Amino acid sequence: MDIKDIFANISAEEIAQLTRDLVRFDTTNPPGNERQAIEFVAEILKPFGFELRFIEHDPQRSTLLARLKGKGERGALVLNGHVDVVPVGSGGWDYPPFEGIIENGKVWGRGSADMKGGLAAMIVAAKAIAQSKIPLKGDLLLTATAGEEVNMMGARSLAELPEAKHWQAVIISEPTSNRLGLAERGVFWPEITTYGKTAHGSTPELGINAVMMMVKVLTEFEKLEIPFQPHPVLGNLTRSVNTIQGGVKVNVIPDQCAVMVDMRTLPGQDHSALLQQLNDFLSGLEREIPNLKASIRLTYDLPPAETSQEAAPVQQFLSAAKKACGIEIPIVKIPFATEAAIFVPALSVPTLILGPGDAALAHQPNEFIEIAAMEKAAQIYAAAAVEMLS
Ligand SMILES: [Zn+2]
Repeated sequence: MDIKDIFANISAEEIAQLTRDLVRFDTTNPPGNERQAIEFVAEILKPFGFELRFIEHDPQRSTLLARLKGKGERGALVLNGHVDVVPVGSGGWDYPPFEGIIENGKVWGRGSADMKGGLAAMIVAAKAIAQSKIPLKGDLLLTATAGEEVNMMGARSLAELPEAKHWQAVIISEPTSNRLGLAERGVFWPEITTYGKTAHGSTPELGINAVMMMVKVLTEFEKLEIPFQPHPVLGNLTRSVNTIQGGVKVNVIPDQCAVMVDMRTLPGQDHSALLQQLNDFLSGLEREIPNLKASIRLTYDLPPAETSQEAAPVQQFLSAAKKACGIEIPIVKIPFATEAAIFVPALSVPTLILGPGDAALAHQPNEFIEIAAMEKAAQIYAAAAVEMLS
């Protein structure tokens, strides 16, 4: 079968309309309410021979696993995208965020780039493979997940399926301007709290000031060296102290102060060792600084993830894009966390991140996606599926 026959079933107009339809489901997370959008995706695939399986999270939320059966001679290829979106924020929208207006070759709206456009491209690519009736050596799975923007519960539940251990590769259509991401940094958000003793503001000598204790902790934290290997694509470990809360009133000595730190870790860094280092750092300060009492609590923990460029599915993906679409796909840094942070550590499955749309537009007002980029992405997914499964 010629790949051009499969491309003939990939229509830019259909992808654009599907993106518009998906944007019209308000899947703002929290709370998510992804069920209707998930059922809509299932209904599109059903007539083309996909077996449908729903993972129920709660009455309003589910994740879809749609399967086009192969012969079982190769592991499944998973095309994966999330349907939830982040809140629209307080303003700055020239286009209504949940209408999916199509104008100037773009679809506008919340979630168009992150990542209903990428999901629409995957749905149309999967449908085109089914329509071609090309024999598949392994299953083609399309997974549409709930909950990515908050706790990745959809991806977590997929990774727990026994069959997931046999997947040969996962492609995630997060927006990368159709470039390939293979590595992403981990997310490590500790909260550090200092404890003092309250007293009247007129007699500070009777209290212990938790805010001033935090000043001492942060001064030392700035100097703390955290070991890491710089990564050729991802660069360095980063850390920033981004919120601080303490005190109740100007005339009361504060007995508590808390900061939240955003750290982005690199492949090879172990989060439990990092947490241990921070615990040891605080215990050391408690011994050095009189009256200091502090604690640390991890509020969010997503490990770094990396797939080798030498992995067979990556090589097949790159050569399929070159042969079928005539493009050399560059390898780029993924600046945010994706569901690869669940799939890679749990399954060691090669995970490729490539999708239409500009990552800089994600989570912004006036989010849009270019229709031509979605069509190109759909062709890349279809070509990769043929290469990996036939
Ligand atoms: Zn996303």
